[in-house]
Amino acid sequence: MNLYFHRTPTLLSVLFPKRIWSMPSTDRRIFLTFDDGPVPGVTDFVLNELEKRGQKATFFVVGDNVRKNLTLAEDILKANHTIGNHTFNHFNGWKTNTDRYLENVDRCQKILEDQLNFSPGYFRPPYGLLKSSQAKDLQKKFQIVMWSLLSGDFDLNLSKEIILKKSKSGTRPGTVVVFHDQEKTKEIIRRVLPEYLDFLGDQGWKTESL
Ligand SMILES: [Zn+2]
Repeated sequence: MNLYFHRTPTLLSVLFPKRIWSMPSTDRRIFLTFDDGPVPGVTDFVLNELEKRGQKATFFVVGDNVRKNLTLAEDILKANHTIGNHTFNHFNGWKTNTDRYLENVDRCQKILEDQLNFSPGYFRPPYGLLKSSQAKDLQKKFQIVMWSLLSGDFDLNLSKEIILKKSKSGTRPGTVVVFHDQEKTKEIIRRVLPEYLDFLGDQGWKTESL
C-alpha cells in the first residue's frame, strides 16, 4: 500500500474508520500538522511563522528530538499549539514487533509527561504504517491521527510551485494537512510555508490544533 497520495483516497478511511483522516467541518477550518521535530532551525521557524499570523497547529514529535531539544518542545506548548506522540525513534510499525513498537511509543509519552508535564492524546504512526495488533493497543490510549492532505514537502523531487499548488488546491473544510519540521525539509519549508499560510489567511481559512 502506497500512502503517498496528496489527497487521501476514501478507501483508506473506510478501511480504518477509527483513525482520524479529516475533521468534520463544513466551514473554512483546517488542521495543520508538523511531523518529526522538534529540530532547531526548522521548528523555531515554523513557530514564528504561525505566531506572526495567529495560526495554530499540532506537532507530532519524535521523543528523541524532544530529548535533544527540550526548549523547543516547551516553546510549542507555550504558544498554545498541541503536541502529539510520533514514537521515540521514528519506528516503522510494519518493520517492528508489536511489543518493541509499543514500548517506543511509551518512551515518547514518558519524556513528554516527565519533562513537559504534558500527556498527548493523539498519536501519528511514522510513515502512516501500523500493524493491526499495534493499532488495536494504541487505540485504547490515543486517537490515531492520519491525514487527508500531504503537502509533499519531504519529496525532494517536487518543486516549490508544485507543492504549493497541490497544497492550496487540496485545502477543503476539515482537511488535516501534513508538513515536516525535520532536517530534510529545512530548506523547502522556508520556501513554501509562508506562502501557504498567507494563502490560508487571505482566503479566510481558520487553522486549528487538534
Ligand atoms: Zn514522521
